[in-house]
Amino acid sequence: MTRVVDGHKHDDDSLLELSIRPGSFGAFVGQEKVKKRLLMSVEAARMRAESLDHVLLSGPAGLGKTTLAHILAKEMGVSVVCTTGPSLEKCGDLASILTNLAEGDMLFIDEIHRLHRVVEEFFYPALEDFHLDIIIGQGPSARTIRLDLPKFTLVGATTRSGLLSAPLRDRFGIQERLDFYNIEELVSIVKRSASILDVGTDKAGALEIAGRCRGTPRIANRLLRRVRDFAQVMKHDTISKQVADDALLLLEVDEKGLDKMDRLFMTTIIEKFGGGPVGVETLCASLSEEKDTIMDVYEPFLMQIGFIKRTPRGRVVTDIGIRYFRDNGPELLTEPGQHSIF
Ligand code: ADP
Repeated sequence: MTRVVDGHKHDDDSLLELSIRPGSFGAFVGQEKVKKRLLMSVEAARMRAESLDHVLLSGPAGLGKTTLAHILAKEMGVSVVCTTGPSLEKCGDLASILTNLAEGDMLFIDEIHRLHRVVEEFFYPALEDFHLDIIIGQGPSARTIRLDLPKFTLVGATTRSGLLSAPLRDRFGIQERLDFYNIEELVSIVKRSASILDVGTDKAGALEIAGRCRGTPRIANRLLRRVRDFAQVMKHDTISKQVADDALLLLEVDEKGLDKMDRLFMTTIIEKFGGGPVGVETLCASLSEEKDTIMDVYEPFLMQIGFIKRTPRGRVVTDIGIRYFRDNGPELLTEPGQHSIF
């Protein structure tokens, strides 16, 4: 099921994202310290006329990792080739990309934590010394030939840096983690996107969208698009607080940016497991969800707003989480037909 508040890219995001993706550090809102450090590395590399060190960008989906990779390439004046970890199935897939790069080019690998182990090990000499060891033939007649590569920069993006093997992680000279955005930054992002899309939005309307997008620019842009549709159909010229509120209520996104699925996640822990601790495997079975979805989509934001915490014995709903669901009434708390403990 696609969720309007999921930070991962949906198929219908592509066109919109191309038109509103910031193209420079100046247009990239927030993440000030990360930007400063990256800019410093870019300037140093440019002064030495060298390629940029390999960069690892981590953090939840939709926070701007791909955008930053493109900005880095632009600042360095090089081309960028994009791929994803799981799509590099064989060593040959990686070899053909690497041998086609020009000196200084950038290779962006999204979801780098999902790189196949064999491909990852084949990659090490390329990252370290810019060569590949290709084995030709089999058995006693097999021999290795060394293929020199241009000096390239790898930019890896991951939502789960903990899953990266230590040898791979150590090969990144620059490692940055992106955090969820604060409300002022999100308001600027909504206003910037609204002006590019030519949608009238007042301050309170932008604030309403910013407050419900889970600290994530991709979700802010997606909500803006949905609210724009609503405003157009309902014949409102401007997105005001009321218009945004009505549209988001229709989408069942509450004031904190939680949707039906988050509420089901929370109520499952509260009602079926007494608030926790409950292991992630048990939650997967109970919600019929993949472990990756629970760890990548549900949990980062719920932890960020302090509704749940991870403990060695499992997931626990915090007092703040319990209070929120109690104060928001049982209609938010239970699915039809279920009985609330409050
Ligand atoms: P990720 O690679 O982390 O999943 P993206 O870089 O693809 O995220 O960002 C998703 C969309 O969100 C982009 O197309 C861009 O429009 C918007 N976005 C992300 N970060 C910012 C930012 N700091 N300022 C403005 N827009 C942003």
